Amino acid sequence: MNKILVILILVLVFLIYKSGTHETQPNLNISISSIEIPSNWLTASTYPVTLATLPSGRQIQLYKFGEGSITLLIVGNIHGGYESNAYLITENILSAFSNGEIIIPENVSIYVIPTMNPDGLSNGQSLAGRFNGQGVDLNRNWDYEWKSSVIFHGESVKAGSAPFSEIETQTVGALALQLKPTVTVFFHCCWGMGTTFANDLANDAGTALANGSGYQLLTGLSGENGEARDWFQIQGLPAIEHEFPAWTESLDTDWANNLPGLIALLDWISQ
Ligand SMILES: [Zn+2]
Repeated sequence: MNKILVILILVLVFLIYKSGTHETQPNLNISISSIEIPSNWLTASTYPVTLATLPSGRQIQLYKFGEGSITLLIVGNIHGGYESNAYLITENILSAFSNGEIIIPENVSIYVIPTMNPDGLSNGQSLAGRFNGQGVDLNRNWDYEWKSSVIFHGESVKAGSAPFSEIETQTVGALALQLKPTVTVFFHCCWGMGTTFANDLANDAGTALANGSGYQLLTGLSGENGEARDWFQIQGLPAIEHEFPAWTESLDTDWANNLPGLIALLDWISQ
């Protein structure tokens, strides 16, 4: 009889302990759609505006050009210093707007985030530079088929503690949900001879960008876990991942091909 009582007490203590630890678990399910963005992100009188300041003190910034109702969102550099040219091309783009190399159609607005991974960018052209300040691959942290750990080049890499666990993805995700860009382009390096990956909603825009830049076009979902392009698709947002050709030193923005590619995309989007 005493033994049964002891067992019952032990079970009770275990259940109380277990429920206690459960209650103290943080809620890691970030509801990205409930994040309110400041009104000045979309309608500031002067740009750039700061979208987020990371624990490191580095900032994610947003530029805007044009006043049209058709919107193109350009996200340079989700993969930090590892893909430094995906940041450098936004310097090409910003100067092309000011020197007249690219004319922005009257009915179009262009939003540019030069880097959404400034911590990774500060680590330079190393594998470590691919990840954010928490060591997370920001192109595996989106809420589509998310897994905590994924394989990159045969190694296990961190995808965050939950979908949208990272400030960087929360920021760009919340911006996208409220801006609802007509098309979003993420720049990456480096895949094959240059590849434009368009989700199914971005087929025509992807065709314009790929034909204009001379890159091959591949469409559909990425098949990766937690990828930006796939999350955009399930939100109903056309999105493109534009991969520069492979070079050993990835500082080349392939501007000679990407300038006509961007002009072709703007021509298409403005029609
Ligand atoms: Zn990349």
